[in-house]
Amino acid sequence: MMGEQAGSQEPLFYGFNLESHIPQNHLLRGIDHFLDLSDLRHHLADHYSSTGRPSIAPELMIRMLVIGYCFGIRSERRLCEEVHLNLAYRWFCRLGLDDSVPDHSTFSKNRHGRFRESGAFRLLFESVLRRCMTEGMVRGEGFATDASVIKADAQRQRRATGDETIDWGNPDQASRPVREYLAALEVENDSETRSRTLSLTDPAASWTSAPGGPAFFAYSTNYLIDLKAGIIVDVEASAVNKAAEVDATRTMIDRVENKFDLLPERLVGDTNYGSAAMLGWLVDEKQIEPHVPVLDKSVRTDGTFSRSDFAWDEDANEYRCPADKVLRCDRRPFKNPRTRITKADSIVYRASLHDCAVCPMKADCCPNELTRKIARSLHENARDVARRIAETDAYRQSRRERKKVEMLFAHLKRILKLDKLRLRGFSGAQDEFLLAATAQNLRRMAKWLMPKAEKVCGMPA
Ligand code: SF4
Repeated sequence: MMGEQAGSQEPLFYGFNLESHIPQNHLLRGIDHFLDLSDLRHHLADHYSSTGRPSIAPELMIRMLVIGYCFGIRSERRLCEEVHLNLAYRWFCRLGLDDSVPDHSTFSKNRHGRFRESGAFRLLFESVLRRCMTEGMVRGEGFATDASVIKADAQRQRRATGDETIDWGNPDQASRPVREYLAALEVENDSETRSRTLSLTDPAASWTSAPGGPAFFAYSTNYLIDLKAGIIVDVEASAVNKAAEVDATRTMIDRVENKFDLLPERLVGDTNYGSAAMLGWLVDEKQIEPHVPVLDKSVRTDGTFSRSDFAWDEDANEYRCPADKVLRCDRRPFKNPRTRITKADSIVYRASLHDCAVCPMKADCCPNELTRKIARSLHENARDVARRIAETDAYRQSRRERKKVEMLFAHLKRILKLDKLRLRGFSGAQDEFLLAATAQNLRRMAKWLMPKAEKVCGMPA
């Protein structure tokens, strides 16, 4: 006999315990276990008025944001609906069944206002990182760094090319990202002499292109991760270009050292981080082993001798060519001593005109020049250190470990759905990247450290 659904949805009283309806192995239980917001109230105290109507509790908004970033709910409006309807989300936010959920407009005011001004998102990120360290998930021996391009919330049609003059109008009536951009120009004392394509919606975004696709506006998210468990130890937004990404890595290494007294023994990165200046900074200033491919343009492919065919003599400060002649940087005496350092931070070593003119190997060395020149970077010793490391087994292991940071970016875009920003401006990008990295660290702790008897439920891995 086909049964009929019994019961009514309109009883007068319910005996309902929210806690008992959340499975013990739910992902949010793990996240809740490792999330500590006890410092938040004190940190934000100066940004709230001591009189007037009580605001929505900052802990509630932060908990809702954590849900949004952990579960890939990108829209604030949808986040409020989900928290309203989902029992687990209500439990995590400390809301009862009858408690009302804040309106989505409240998020905007707080995110762009007091949360940003007070650095609340960095405080949150650092408190989660501290917990990761306490739980032994950060070893501090090896770090990896990389950057990933995330689309900005700026239409490609709303742009100005390099030679167009832009009238931004009254700065006080401009949008937040434009005001921020103009303020940054003022701080840098940079008149707007630009050659780049600029978004009229989010001028700080970079005009960039993915291989094979049309150009778009974007920011880079830069990660510095510990290689033990892939915990993100720092995150930084930057423009989409190699120089800015390398600068971001330096900033992160310095910040982690200053705040957490963590300085890795080795840094793993791709060729973008293999410039002479970066290697010099790592080896000479920070004493960090660069497990990074050397960016080397000295290899010749036309069959003539490359720089590696010339032997360097440190004591004599000279190269020896395959014909056993010397290349020196100080052949010509000058009345006033010169540093001989070029704009590219290198010193040029030259063979003697006389030696090269009669050399039988000239066709294999410098067929189109009178004499052979070699530019030696000021950081060549650091480059040599990186070249030696590149031949070790430890380096090969580092190459495999570098995939951990790439997997975090894949996770960020595919699972957390952060392939496009919702907030505009550089600080908007920074806020979103901080929250996403916080969510990734929380999820990792919950998955690695909570009891593994049953698979953690909640969302995809
Ligand atoms: S051409 Fe000059 S630099 Fe080159 S091998 Fe001959 S002598 Fe040496």
